[in-house]
Amino acid sequence: MEEELPGVVSTRENEELIIPASTTIEMPENASDLEIKYEDLPPMPERRLKEMWSQSSGGSCLVTCITTVLMLWTHLLTVQSMDLPETPATICLAMMWSCAVLAVVCLVGLLFSDPGECKRSPEVCFPIPEEVREKLLKGESTSHGLSNIIVDAETPELAKTYCVRCLLWRPKVKYHHCSVCQRCVGDFDHHCGVFGRCIAGKGIGPCGTGNMKYFVGMVIAGCGGELICIVWFMIAISLTM
Ligand SMILES: [Zn+2]
Ligand SMILES: [Zn+2]
Repeated sequence: MEEELPGVVSTRENEELIIPASTTIEMPENASDLEIKYEDLPPMPERRLKEMWSQSSGGSCLVTCITTVLMLWTHLLTVQSMDLPETPATICLAMMWSCAVLAVVCLVGLLFSDPGECKRSPEVCFPIPEEVREKLLKGESTSHGLSNIIVDAETPELAKTYCVRCLLWRPKVKYHHCSVCQRCVGDFDHHCGVFGRCIAGKGIGPCGTGNMKYFVGMVIAGCGGELICIVWFMIAISLTM
């Protein structure tokens, strides 16, 4: 079998089309990416784990303490005020337990669910912008001296941004690179200094995205628990006076 020579394209058997050296061969649009493979990309930026850990452990302790104090307080009020009617007392305790369970579920959800971080894949990593490619080929960090690259489009939904730290393309709208978590997050709201996680997503029901539903659930549980406690305390005081 005949070997194909470089620069020579076989057309038909025994007939060859020789491309002159001066001819420029049209390269594919992302030809520059041929030099960097997906597997060659540097790892994702390191998270500020110490900060995240101290924030999340502080938040967990806070939630545990507040829940325990409110539960103890409600139980003590119920036990000490023997004159209190049984039905309201049972309802109050049931509501307090519901708030406590909701708080624990939301805490676990906040700590362990994905807020909507952008994941790397060949589809979102290429094409690599020229300035980023040059830095990568030189072995330099892309996090310094480069700004995110923005591609504007008439329709905002089609506009996209290249994150020079995560090294990926993401939709321009509502995506943000968190400096603590060191990830790009969709529908970003804020980085919570209490729970050490990005708070992001839409909707608060079971179909909601990201971890916003857990954050809202936590606020409801906290406010609800405190409200029940205050109301129950006022009822107890008025009945015992
Ligand atoms: Zn990023
Ligand atoms: Zn974050």
